[in-house]
Order: sequence, then structure tokens, then C-alpha cells
Amino acid sequence: MKLTIKITGVIFLVTTLLLIVDTTYSVRREIELFDHDMQHDAKLLGDALRRLIMNVWENSSELEAIQVIDNLNETQSNIKVRWIWFDDLKNDPFISPASRQFLMSILSRQETTFLNIKHQDGHYLHTFVPVQIEHVKLGAIELSETMTQRDRYVKTTILHAVILIVGLLMLNGILLWLLGRKIVGRPLQRLVEKTRRISDGDLTADIVLGGNDELNKLAASFNQMCERLNEAREKVRLETEKRIATLEQLRHSERLATVGRLASGIAHELGTPLNVVAGRAKLIVTESLTEQESKEFAAIIHEQAERMTKIIRQLLDFSRRRTPQRSAVPLQMLLRQIKEMLDPIARKNKVEIVLGEISHLTPMALDREQIQQVLINLVMNAIQAMPAGGVVQIHAQIEDGGEGASKEKQLTITVSDNGEGISPEHKEHIFEPFFTTKDIGIGTGLGLSIVHGIIEEHGGHIDVKSERGKGTTFIISLPVDSTT
Ligand code: ADP
Repeated sequence: MKLTIKITGVIFLVTTLLLIVDTTYSVRREIELFDHDMQHDAKLLGDALRRLIMNVWENSSELEAIQVIDNLNETQSNIKVRWIWFDDLKNDPFISPASRQFLMSILSRQETTFLNIKHQDGHYLHTFVPVQIEHVKLGAIELSETMTQRDRYVKTTILHAVILIVGLLMLNGILLWLLGRKIVGRPLQRLVEKTRRISDGDLTADIVLGGNDELNKLAASFNQMCERLNEAREKVRLETEKRIATLEQLRHSERLATVGRLASGIAHELGTPLNVVAGRAKLIVTESLTEQESKEFAAIIHEQAERMTKIIRQLLDFSRRRTPQRSAVPLQMLLRQIKEMLDPIARKNKVEIVLGEISHLTPMALDREQIQQVLINLVMNAIQAMPAGGVVQIHAQIEDGGEGASKEKQLTITVSDNGEGISPEHKEHIFEPFFTTKDIGIGTGLGLSIVHGIIEEHGGHIDVKSERGKGTTFIISLPVDSTT
């Protein structure tokens, strides 16, 4: 709608200016014509009077000549006629000093002169007709004609022009406004509304303006654009659907592969002890064994059953992922307990467990049991990675999350050893279930996958840095709330 106002405004302004210029020019021209007519008439009358006066003056007397002029004033009232002596001009009260000067110079040249003088009752045209009497005396006939009629005419013309201009402008304005709204304003408004609907996702090609102007072509382009966008959107939707279906299929195959790996892992892990158990049990049943032998075989069966129990327990831990039951965990105490619990095993393997500075640790909202299991698994792996002995270092620290959305505190725990390290080709598999490089009976390949699961459940992440022959460091980062 603003566009209509602008267009109407500009046309309105230009029309107003043109009309004003034209009217001013016409009024001026008419005034000039009017003045010219008046002067022409006055000159004709003046010339006729001069000849008459000169005749009377020469054939009769000066007195009679001036009497003729006085008689003239009695017979008609529109034009006043007066005789003036050239010498008397100096004292004439009706003529200003400047005009007088001008008049004297003109009269001395004996030319008919016109003066437009403003009196109290309006403008007057004064015509001075010089008359030379007997080559000596110089006088003039003065004709004074009121210009009221001309002034009235000018006023009426200006008034008419103003009324005409205002009327025309109002009519023009209304017409322009209505047409502007119909031809430009409304179609543009509809196009703007359409763009809004497009941005809201409505791509129906439904805009019809009618006619054959540029706006209509624009609307047609809009519709065409909507159709193309619609086609593109449909194409993207179909492709996305296809991609999702493919992804689902992939996930399904991956799940099948994982189940397969799990099954073969379980079969492999349980197969060996089961074979041993079955073999020994068969021997006990079929062979006539001494009591000593029976006891030995029973001990082997017991040991293998224990091993299978351990595997099944770990499998249960792995599968029984539960959401962490957070409570205020006194970290200092937890770390000391773990060290005390594992110290005997470590000593047996010539390993020392070193706990870093933990006095600054405050209680944190964590699942105590799960974090304990994580640390035990990592320390046990570290001990097993140092067959010739070494040092396991545990460090923990709390860092402020900083400003903004991530201002949660961060608990970082590192467990490092100076053992054999992890080869690059194994590194990417260590968190997979049943991946182990350890001998049968020692490793099940479930420890790190359990650790990984627990850390993820806590919303954290685990990282590993390792160098062959130099050692390994596991870094755990956990977002935590201080519950002190
Ligand atoms: P497991 O200990 O039963 O083998 P894990 O899942 O705990 O199963 O570990 C998987 C593998 O990761 C281990 O067999 C070992 O090769 C490697 N590993 C884990 N921790 C360490 C470590 N601290 N140093 C070297 N290798 C490690």
C-alpha cells in the first residue's frame, strides 16, 4: 500500500506544479493583454483629445480649450480628464517625486506616457498626452482610468484557477488512489502474502491476478517457482525416505552381526570350559578312578564351572545396562577403597598402585557401584599389561565447565600404566565386546565394553592414549553436579 501512496504522491506533486505554472503564465498574459488594451484605448482617446484641444486653443482661446476638458468630465465618468501645465507638475500632489522626475523627462521628449499608480481606492492608469501650445508653452492632457475592473478580473481568474486546481487535484488524487490500489496495491499485497505463505511451507501454486501486466507475469513466475519447489521437496522427501530405509536395513544387519559376534564369543568362551567339564565328567563316569584322581577331576570341573560363572556374570553386567542411580559419592573414600582392594593383587604382580592428590575432591553425583566397576576394570587391565611389574597411577580432578551452556563441572579421572601398550590395529577394537588379546581363561574381552557403556550412561566419554612398549593411559571425562 505504501507504493500506491508514493506513486499517487509523485503524480499529485507533478500535476500541482504544472497547473500552478500554467495558471501563473496564463494570468500574467491576460494582465498584459488587458493593460495593453487599456493603454491602446487611452492613447487613441488622448490623441483625439490633443487634436481637439489644439484646434479649440488655436481657433478660439485657452480658456475654451480647458472648458472642453471640464465638459468632458461631466459627460462621462469612467475616464477622468485633466489639463496640467508642464511647470505645475512639480507641485502635483498625486504624483510621487520619482514618477514626477520620470514624467518630466518623458514629457520633455513629447511622448505619450503611461503610469500605473496605486491610490487609496485601487490602481489607476494615468495617461499623459503632451500638448505643445504655440511653440512655447508645454502642457499635457492627463487621462485617469480606474483599473478596478482589471483587478477584479485578475482576482476572479486566480480564484477560478485555484478552485480548478484543487478540484482537479482532488479528483486526480482519488482516481489515482483507487486505480493504484486496484492495479498495483492489491496485487502486490497478494504477492507479499504469498511469499509469507511460501516461507511458512505452503507451496501451492494458487496465485491468479488477472490481466496481462508485469505483476501478472510475476505472479505466474511465483506459481512456477512454487511448482518447482514442490517437485524438489517431494524429490528430497522420497530420497530421505529411501535413505532412512537403507539406514534401517544397515542397522538391522549391524545388529545381526553384533548378535552373531556375541553368540560366537559366548560359544567360544563357554565352549572350552564346557569341553573340559564334559571330558572330566565322562572320565569319572566311565573310568574306574582312584579317589585321588576323582578329587583332582572334581577340582578341575569346579574350577571350570567357576570360570563359566565369571563369564556369565560379566555377560550379565554387560547386558544389564541400567540408568545410573546417582547419589553423592565421596570420591576420596571411593578411590582409597579401590586402592586397598586391589593392592594385594598388584603386589602379587610386582605392581604398585599410586594415588595422586585427591584431597580437593568433593562428593559428586554418580552411580557409586558403576564407577567402582569402571575403575576396577581399568586398574586390573593395567596390572595385566605389566607382566614384569610397574606402576599404575590414578589421578582425579574437577574442572569448572566455564561460561555458558557447558558450565557443568567436569570430573576427569586418568588411569595410566607403563606396560606393554596397545598396538594401533588393536586400538580401534578394544571397546568391542569379546575383543581380547589375552589367553583363554584370563581375558573375556568384556571389561572395556562394560566401562565404555557405563561412562556413556553417565553422559561422559572415555579416551585412550597408548604407545607400544611405553604404556597406556585411559582418560575418563564425566559431567557432574557437586552435591556438597
Ligand atoms: P580383557 O581384559 O578381558 O581382554 P577388555 O575389554 O578389558 O578385555 O580389554 C580388551 C583388550 O584391550 C585387552 O585384551 C588388551 O589387549 C587391551 N587392553 C586393555 N587395557 C590395556 C592396557 N592397560 N594396556 C594394554 N592393553 C590393554
